[in-house]
Amino acid sequence: MSEADVKQCLKVVLEKIEQASLKRPQELQYVQPRLVAVSKTKPVDLIVQAYEAGQRHFGENYVRELEEKANDPVILEKCNEIRWHFIGHLQTNKINKVLSLPNIYLIETVDSEHLATTLNKNWPKFGPPNSKLKVMVQINTSGEEDKNGISPSEVVTLTKYIINDCNNLHLDGLMTIGRFGYKAENGPNPDFVSLKNCRNEICQNLGLNWKKVNLSMGMSDGFEHAIDLGSTNVRVGTAIFGPRLKKELQCVQPRLVAVSKTKPVDLIVQAYEAGQRHFGENYVKELEEKANDPIILEKCNEIRWHFIGHLQTNKINKILSLPNIYLIETVDTEKLATTLNKNWPKFGPPDSKLKVMIQVNTSGEEDGLMMIGRFGYKVEDGPNPDFVCLKNCRDEICQNLGLDWKEINLSMGMSDDFEHAIELGSTNVRVGSSIFGVRPKKE
Ligand SMILES: *Cc1c(COP(=O)(O)O)cnc(C)c1O
Ligand SMILES: *Cc1c(COP(=O)(O)O)cnc(C)c1O
Repeated sequence: MSEADVKQCLKVVLEKIEQASLKRPQELQYVQPRLVAVSKTKPVDLIVQAYEAGQRHFGENYVRELEEKANDPVILEKCNEIRWHFIGHLQTNKINKVLSLPNIYLIETVDSEHLATTLNKNWPKFGPPNSKLKVMVQINTSGEEDKNGISPSEVVTLTKYIINDCNNLHLDGLMTIGRFGYKAENGPNPDFVSLKNCRNEICQNLGLNWKKVNLSMGMSDGFEHAIDLGSTNVRVGTAIFGPRLKKELQCVQPRLVAVSKTKPVDLIVQAYEAGQRHFGENYVKELEEKANDPIILEKCNEIRWHFIGHLQTNKINKILSLPNIYLIETVDTEKLATTLNKNWPKFGPPDSKLKVMIQVNTSGEEDGLMMIGRFGYKVEDGPNPDFVCLKNCRDEICQNLGLDWKEINLSMGMSDDFEHAIELGSTNVRVGSSIFGVRPKKE
């Protein structure tokens, strides 16, 4: 993003905040909501640009990254009034790192008595004499397992503890992330309502003035609605700095499936001897020959076969009986799932489960196969819609079935585009020609 863009986007966001503030009910007009520019994954020069345009509050969610940025010589020189908000999950063993940072301003994510206790104990070693560290209590208003924060029912206990027993902390407010993708057309966002109710509850129980308890809620997608509902601290990243690559994704190393279709056994052995373990085949007959090949059986005993072709029900037993069959990537009907499920116990080790993936026709092409998507998509045209679609499918099943998205692989990306696919979250790339050379067209 260029300089003009960051300044322009910042201006637009500030205008929207202003407008949303003016539309609030009278009793909420007592304060101008504070904008926290969330700069995670973004370089120092963009932060400096936003700072020079007047922005002071910035948010980061990884200790390591915040450490680098807060100590960056350019930031220290040009942004001496910067105010850092820590908005990520804070582990107790990283506390001193965060507390020692220049210009640390607020920890938005206190979610346990233990964390509060340790922050309280250690702040005097780092902060100015007799100062208090500002903290917010993070609440998991949506109750989702992958979100941090205490449950609304615990809020009185923890805030009371901070106020009464943590002399070196100042309770600045309450914070929530909430469910992603909520549509304001459906009425007031329940996460924002819940956070406000939490504030009411602590004010009533602990005799606090509600105007002194900030509500940190609302991100790029929904900050105006959050302000409408009383937010006084919005955390906005994308709308200012542009889209990010998901940092979280970088913790999973994508798995490479070497697609060996049409290629001879000796090339498979070579790849195996170079360390490759996962191999993909798309014809039952061919996979049968290779998986039972004496050389493969002798030299590649840890090979893991992925079946990546269309599977007919009458071939299922052939596949399930193969040595080292590892994963069927192409389940696309309930009938296929039923038959695989019924027959696996006859072939697999006792009590084992057969790994499967659901094949999704993301491109809607009549002859489209799995997450192969359209061929020849050009990355210059933006994120590949097939990959985006597969990722959305994952979000949907995780939300509906309460699954952890990190446990659901995305198999997408081939020789042509596996790097782009990884950027968009692929954890299983199927690469043939780039490893084994081009294949003759089977026609
Ligand atoms: C990344 C992040 C944001 C900003 O999200 P955008 O959608 O980019 O505005 C806000 N809050 C927290 C806790 C975040 O991690
Ligand atoms: C052939 C094939 C691949 C590999 O394609 P390359 O372009 O050679 O990398 C990946 N996935 C499936 C399902 C395939 O049939």
